[in-house]
Amino acid sequence: MPALDTGRHFPPRPVDDDEFFADASARLGALHTPDGGFIDDPQLAAHNLATAAQRHGAAFRWKTPVTAVMRRGGRVRGVRLKDGTELSAGVVVNAAGPWSGQLNRLAEVGGDFTATSGSPSSV
Ligand SMILES: Cc1cc2nc3c(=O)[nH]c(=O)nc-3n(C[C@H](O)[C@H](O)[C@H](O)COP(=O)(O)OP(=O)(O)OC[C@H]3O[C@@H](n4cnc5c(N)ncnc54)[C@H](O)[C@@H]3O)c2cc1C
Repeated sequence: MPALDTGRHFPPRPVDDDEFFADASARLGALHTPDGGFIDDPQLAAHNLATAAQRHGAAFRWKTPVTAVMRRGGRVRGVRLKDGTELSAGVVVNAAGPWSGQLNRLAEVGGDFTATSGSPSSV
């Protein structure tokens, strides 16, 4: 990965420390992440996770986009799906990945977020 800076900067320093911009003390030869892993079949991995979630009571509604986030008194009370079904929920978790910004806009939240994600068409 030639784009990586292999400079060794240690220990971590706060940005206002005089040493923050100091040159690297050495060069790293390798990076070992013992807790990392390699998945050569992400579709199978996602399927396995979905099956495990189902075993714990999760239900999936494939190809059914959320088109509205319903609110009452400033609180989320559920979501409406494209087929018109309304699902009530006291808590809605936004796991829409690159589309999470769009879902936040449906939920009318995110105006005060310091980090945002754009829609795929704007990336
Ligand atoms: C080309 C490419 C290659 C990548 N390669 C790697 C890699 O090799 N290794 C790696 O670790 N990561 C890789 N990534 C990154 C990885 O895919 C993402 O980090 C990961 O998928 C994010 O997971 P997520 O669950 O947050 O979002 P996603 O996997 O994007 O899932 C979001 C889901 O929300 C759904 N959704 C969105 N809006 C709505 C809505 N309104 N209603 C209902 N559902 C909705 C979408 O259909 C999607 O299924 C790659 C990404 C890309 C684009």
